[in-house]
Amino acid sequence: MARKKDECSFCGSPRSEVKLLISGFDAQICERCVEQANLILAEELSLRKPRSAKSGFKVLRPAEIKNFLDQYVIGQDEAKRILAVAVYNHYKRIDQAPAKDDVEIEKSNIILVGETGTGKTLLARTIAKMLHVPFAIADATVLTEAGYVGEDVESILTRLLQAADYDVEAAERGIVFIDEIDKIARKSDNPSITRDVSGEGVQQALLKLLEGSIVNVPPQGGRKHPEQKMIQVDTRNILFIAGGAFDGIERIIAARYHTNVVGYGRDKDEFIDKDNLLQYISPADLKKFGMIPEIVGRLPIVTYLHPLTRETLKRIIVEPKNALVKQFVRLFEIDGIKLVFEEDVYDYIVEKSIELKLGARGLRSIFEAILNDDMFELPSRKGVKELRITRDYAESKFRKSGLSKLKVA
Ligand code: ADP
Repeated sequence: MARKKDECSFCGSPRSEVKLLISGFDAQICERCVEQANLILAEELSLRKPRSAKSGFKVLRPAEIKNFLDQYVIGQDEAKRILAVAVYNHYKRIDQAPAKDDVEIEKSNIILVGETGTGKTLLARTIAKMLHVPFAIADATVLTEAGYVGEDVESILTRLLQAADYDVEAAERGIVFIDEIDKIARKSDNPSITRDVSGEGVQQALLKLLEGSIVNVPPQGGRKHPEQKMIQVDTRNILFIAGGAFDGIERIIAARYHTNVVGYGRDKDEFIDKDNLLQYISPADLKKFGMIPEIVGRLPIVTYLHPLTRETLKRIIVEPKNALVKQFVRLFEIDGIKLVFEEDVYDYIVEKSIELKLGARGLRSIFEAILNDDMFELPSRKGVKELRITRDYAESKFRKSGLSKLKVA
């Protein structure tokens, strides 16, 4: 048998230049070639798979979709109903045989407007879970026009491909959530800031993805691997859900209704609920905010999320299928301990989360702060069968924690 040289038998890189060499009988392979082979494999397999027009999964009806969402997301009924219909229509459209007449159902990408932490990502993620389709989250703030420092928009599809294990066909039916879309708004409509077109360039780049086209995607993302072979991804059937807080858009809505933020509509008969102006949001407001008309046109379904109230936060703690309380109870149960919370502990946790301006995202950290000592100590203590958390106990544990020292601006 030939003696193995101390180098990758595929690319010839010496051991000193690679991180890892995996040895076989007669040959060895470096980590870069393994990665490369993996991509070739994924690509070949997906090319060989028969491509069917049908998406192959059962399309749930809108009411069923909403029921599913209800199990994971509290409240936000308007957004759920709109999403349910949009998702239903979207997948119905994919499942349709090509039209013989000229009726072509257009794609229904969605834009969710609402404060951060109100459940936008959760809604998108839950829909992907329900449909068993690949799901990727992209942050619009890191995207730049090609040629600038930052990520190209194609990186969004790289992430989707990765979520699909490089099954191109699966990725082409996936869902992409683009967070913070409001941050790439054109600033020039905003009189307080001098002309700045950088956001507009990114919007133009995104447009290519949203409108449905064949995009060359670098399978490993980034520009660090110029040698990588591009994978072509057709975005026609990818559902894009964009989300953003659109801070200050209420003023634009109010102006459209000719009301100041405290008043009634110009038409005295028409009552405008000034506490919840977001419910009147329309594509025109998004344009005024600085989204280019083409992008608004490609995100035709606009809906909104409510800010979370105390009651909603409390329900978020206990009700969802994977509610925080259920998760902690399970963690203790595994150690044979029954974890019991007195009802007013939830009120305390909600109060703290609001006080620290953490919203729903803070709830878990507060639970952790309260339970950390016990999670540390109880597994090594014998004979503990139950841990009861009272409000006093929760307060004393929380006061000791680093979180309680958090300074709120
Ligand atoms: P957004 O995308 O609007 O900024 P997220 O969906 O990321 O907010 O929400 C952050 C976290 O808060 C979620 O992971 C979830 O645990 C919780 N959360 C927020 N809103 C809700 C809701 N309506 N129902 C259940 N959980 C929620």
